[in-house]
Amino acid sequence: MAVRRSAAPLDSASLYAEYPFLPGAESLLRDPSWTVRSLFEDRRYDPARGLGRARILAAADDPRAVNEVAEFADASPEVRYLSFVFARVTLACAPSLAGLRRWAVAESKRSSARLERLSGAEQEEEILAVSAKMQVGMSPGPGGVAVPLVEYLRLAAPIREADFRLVRQDVRRGEVEVRSARAARLLEEAIRRRLAEPLPLNEDVVRFVRERESELFAQLAARMPLPTARTGVSGGALRADRFPPCIRKMRRTLQQGENLSHAGRFALAAFLHRAGADPETIVDAYRGAPDFDESITRYQVEHITQHDGGAGYTPPECETLRSHGLCAREGDPTAAEPADRVPDPLCFEERLHHPLQYYQIRGGTVVERGEEARGSREVNRPAEAPGTPGPPGRSRSTGRR
Ligand code: SF4
Repeated sequence: MAVRRSAAPLDSASLYAEYPFLPGAESLLRDPSWTVRSLFEDRRYDPARGLGRARILAAADDPRAVNEVAEFADASPEVRYLSFVFARVTLACAPSLAGLRRWAVAESKRSSARLERLSGAEQEEEILAVSAKMQVGMSPGPGGVAVPLVEYLRLAAPIREADFRLVRQDVRRGEVEVRSARAARLLEEAIRRRLAEPLPLNEDVVRFVRERESELFAQLAARMPLPTARTGVSGGALRADRFPPCIRKMRRTLQQGENLSHAGRFALAAFLHRAGADPETIVDAYRGAPDFDESITRYQVEHITQHDGGAGYTPPECETLRSHGLCAREGDPTAAEPADRVPDPLCFEERLHHPLQYYQIRGGTVVERGEEARGSREVNRPAEAPGTPGPPGRSRSTGRR
């Protein structure tokens, strides 16, 4: 794996190769007769397809791994650009958009990692060059970079680190003054959003790409496995399709590479544990989080699931989830599935007090606290969670920005 250790100011060809999503990056192409079909079929594009597949699969394993794809080191700017286009089109044609969201997280992290390796004037220059082409509106400021207030609020909203709260910023004349490292983090968010947007492709292209890349889609699905029950849990497999609306929405949020609140992350891990998910499945649920850190997530999941001698925490009941804005019984208008967009009648029944109760009524199996060895039995109204340890999926704030 080749990992770039230092970075220098870029000429425009190198800038586009590093940031292939920028308008104008198509100028890297030497052959203007290029088409989507030729990119997927023509032998001369073998290197671009190979690198594109590597980018996709690395992102599926770990969003940070894209930075370490060995083929990047030797690829020409044109091949790097085409590999990006290949990955973007392929993932837009995938049966699930989860891969696209995860890849968007990975590519945005790759860009911000490059910006973080720079320093001083070089760093500011490159941040401003990328920002200008993305029309984010950053400009040179007295202490680093000035970000229009509206843009700051939009980009910082999903970033949970306390240092990004507006009350801690230096706001002057409608602009937020930030140091370059913080500006790089904001740009990361802008890039992630842009790349996570699905592409409008016609049915013929989608069918063609799915046929051509069926093997890649199979590998992708294997790397993002469906929820699995841990061994020893009676009652069989996890029934993700029977999860309550709140839990389904939490999972979608993370799969889309968006942030989930501390309370949501805790509730999701505790719910999956009591539904019988194995630890890998619980960790996998957080892989799309913009701040995903594998080792910290494992530690936090273990903390939640092994609490109280292995019984694990109980997820919060409906009332608590409602008070945190996590109840989704009214339907989620942003959901792709029609069933997720409408109110769920079961959630409005008087007897319904807890997400695990919902799951059980829908036919799912709930593992009783501390009773796993003896199998599972009915849960009527589980106790409130005793507390919320550190939320899974989140890297610790290093205070570096
Ligand atoms: S009513 Fe309860 S189970 Fe249903 S979505 Fe709200 S919190 Fe979840």
